[in-house]
Amino acid sequence: MTSVHDIITADPAASCDVELVKGPWEFDTIPGYGPGCSEDDVIPEPVVRPGQLPAAYQKMSDDELHARIRAAKETLGNKLVILGHFYQRDEVIQHADFVGDSFQLANAALTMPDAEAIVFCGVHFMAETADILARPEQHVILPNLAAGCSMADMADEDTVEACWEELMDIYGSEPDADGKQPVIPVTYMNSSAALKAFCGRNGGIVCTSSNASTVLEWAFERGQRVLFFPDQHLGRNTAKAMGITMDQMPMWNPRKPLGGHTEEVLLDAKVLLWHGFCSVHKRFTVGQIKKAREEFPGVKIIVHPEAPMPVVDAADASGSTDAIRKFVEASQPGDTIAIGTEVNMVNRLAAEYPDRTIFCLDPVVCPCSTMYRIHPGYLAWTLDGLVEGEIRNEIIVDGDTATYAKVALERMLSALPKAAPVIGD
Ligand code: SF4
Repeated sequence: MTSVHDIITADPAASCDVELVKGPWEFDTIPGYGPGCSEDDVIPEPVVRPGQLPAAYQKMSDDELHARIRAAKETLGNKLVILGHFYQRDEVIQHADFVGDSFQLANAALTMPDAEAIVFCGVHFMAETADILARPEQHVILPNLAAGCSMADMADEDTVEACWEELMDIYGSEPDADGKQPVIPVTYMNSSAALKAFCGRNGGIVCTSSNASTVLEWAFERGQRVLFFPDQHLGRNTAKAMGITMDQMPMWNPRKPLGGHTEEVLLDAKVLLWHGFCSVHKRFTVGQIKKAREEFPGVKIIVHPEAPMPVVDAADASGSTDAIRKFVEASQPGDTIAIGTEVNMVNRLAAEYPDRTIFCLDPVVCPCSTMYRIHPGYLAWTLDGLVEGEIRNEIIVDGDTATYAKVALERMLSALPKAAPVIGD
């Protein structure tokens, strides 16, 4: 299988940013999210800032890095578990003990009771979630601290608190005659631990891309309306499928007073959508879908619900990473499937099902550029540290934040039908 990195190295011009061929240490410390991100991505402060990868690791050959990683894994045995997100690059995935979405992976680590170190090859919020769910004696490590999620960073605690205060001024904090709260906060799994804790403290809940409608139903049983953050697209696509009209779901712009709306609009709202988005999934367009249908008559098209609403409407299906996997699993040899999600995952599915034609809807090779920063060099450096007894790049969620974030996560689990899978981004 040709990895996404090999494709980009062979033809940098075919990618969304020629800088992606470089080692991430060349841009980790400069402000911004680096190559591949949308120019519209706002870089909030503070975001996690990385240290420099030691020069020796920057200079090592790929073979040497892989040999070091394998040797460290051998030495550490079951004291170590490496988790790899579906969107992670192949050079790292080959070393993962578990591959999955963020919540699957956090739960997978719990099945490894002897693991003292959980190395999360994903992005920052994923490592935080793993730390919230891990046992106190387990250490969660993010190999490169620059691996954030630009969408998660679009909603920070201070801005959401400021929004909440404005909403309380309009709605008040008292329940109505039916006992429903004025507004329930709902955060997507792709958010900081601080925002999950905000939801825990304020009667709110966490959702994933596979259970968002169940979670919204839970929220509407308890509240008159919902504040949904940070992904406007998941919120809009889910609310629309539940019959909520566009005029009932205004978008809250945190840079404008009252989110850019009048009190009347906010009083009529059923879902307030935060102005956040994923720079990978917002690249998918209706034009790409039309082109795929013209070029491949009979093509089946599935997209992730982080894609914009017109794209979800034009596709044959939409769903979480797990739903996309199942869609491909259920297809037949000879089928052609176009997928609107991150290209590393799409390419692995194409390799897994060589008897089908599977391709990414976006013709430009544009991986999740922040997750892409987990280069094997960082993995080797953190594992060598563990062998030497040094924990590098540990992610620690403070006790109070973890307690309330867990409240919001447990509400999500209690809202789900008993046997339902809990799958996310
Ligand atoms: S694909 Fe998008 S939402 Fe997922 S981690 Fe990357 S930036 Fe965040």
